[in-house]
Amino acid sequence: MHDVAPDRGNHLICYCSDCQTAANVLGYQDTLDNWGGTTVFQTIPRNVEFERGQRYLACLRLSPKGMLRWYAGCCNAPLFNVLPNSRIAMTGLNMARIAESDQAAFGPLAGVYSAKGAKNPPPDLKDRGIPKAFALVFWRAVKAQLRGDSAAPFFDANGQPVVTPRVLTLEERKAARPGRGPISR
Ligand SMILES: [Zn+2]
Repeated sequence: MHDVAPDRGNHLICYCSDCQTAANVLGYQDTLDNWGGTTVFQTIPRNVEFERGQRYLACLRLSPKGMLRWYAGCCNAPLFNVLPNSRIAMTGLNMARIAESDQAAFGPLAGVYSAKGAKNPPPDLKDRGIPKAFALVFWRAVKAQLRGDSAAPFFDANGQPVVTPRVLTLEERKAARPGRGPISR
């Protein structure tokens, strides 16, 4: 990531069942917090560059229309979530990939998504910061489009993902859905 700063993205935690399902498929439940949350930094693809290891880049979709969930094909580590429409510039960096000593540069957590998907959460865990985060995502995407940003490094010039995604079958998706009990690690 280039020039990391709190005002370059949204530092959020998401408790939706899709993010938990993806962690289950990839075998990375340990990147979730105690209640199943995935912490991301939503920014624009222009801020992302692969300096090495690009040949290991792999992509998962929970369904044919689902988000593009980029991960490292060598170790399955989740890396980035990207909207399937290459013209909307938004990517969420999985903060579990960032060393704890480097996390301060991303600023404090600014929002909570889909708190109702959390497993056995404390009573004060509620959605917050979402309208502002949505507005910022929209605004950054508009600016990217006006500037004529390319959709690299996730899409080619034709707007196709640079790697053919693995799409889960309905059975695979159902089998990986988070259970109702506590998160198993
Ligand atoms: Zn989510």
